[in-house]
Amino acid sequence: MAYELPDLPYAYTALEPYIDAETMHLHHDKHHKAYVDKLNEAVKDYPKYQKYDPEVLVTHWKKLPRAIQEVVRNNAGGDVNHTMFWTIMKKNGGGKPSGEIAKQINKDFKTFDKFKKAFNEAGTKRFGSGWVWLIVQNGKLVITTTPNQDSPLTNGSYPIFGFDLWEHSFYLKYHNKKDEYFDALWNVLNWDEIEQRFTRAKAIDQRKPVKTETQKQYGA
Ligand code: MN
Repeated sequence: MAYELPDLPYAYTALEPYIDAETMHLHHDKHHKAYVDKLNEAVKDYPKYQKYDPEVLVTHWKKLPRAIQEVVRNNAGGDVNHTMFWTIMKKNGGGKPSGEIAKQINKDFKTFDKFKKAFNEAGTKRFGSGWVWLIVQNGKLVITTTPNQDSPLTNGSYPIFGFDLWEHSFYLKYHNKKDEYFDALWNVLNWDEIEQRFTRAKAIDQRKPVKTETQKQYGA
């Protein structure tokens, strides 16, 4: 059973005018598909690993045979990260969060606007391709970044949500104006989905041993 590209949970035009349909086609149909295809190619001769969920492969890529570690890290990572990305956006999304995630943001960042600013700054500072993430560490929200298609999962943290910092995700419409792309993303966020991911992230955070190492140090 090969890994499959999931359909977008909405129409290609659903995120207009913030994220244009042409970018969605390119990003989902070409880039995300390429990660899925390369993941299938990587595990082609390793039937033992084909049954694992891509999230499990990303979490434990260091335990895989050396010959496929890097290619699985990059392409299962690309698959999992993009599957997350599609679901944390929706038509008529955005605005301010409510629920537990809103309470936790206010607790850890004082206000939603301060959180947004810190998240955007972290994303802007990440050099080259990668992702900016919100995770939970020891019961607190933490903003972190990873290079390439690396995931906080590898370091034991479930990503609540992340913004794709690869140029392929914004260059067609926003060119080099990453700040305008970030503004666009805040206008399409699916806070209901993010709330659910926050619940999962807290559960995973509570199960793992207390760490002092920050996510930022990983792979940076
Ligand atoms: Mn991407």
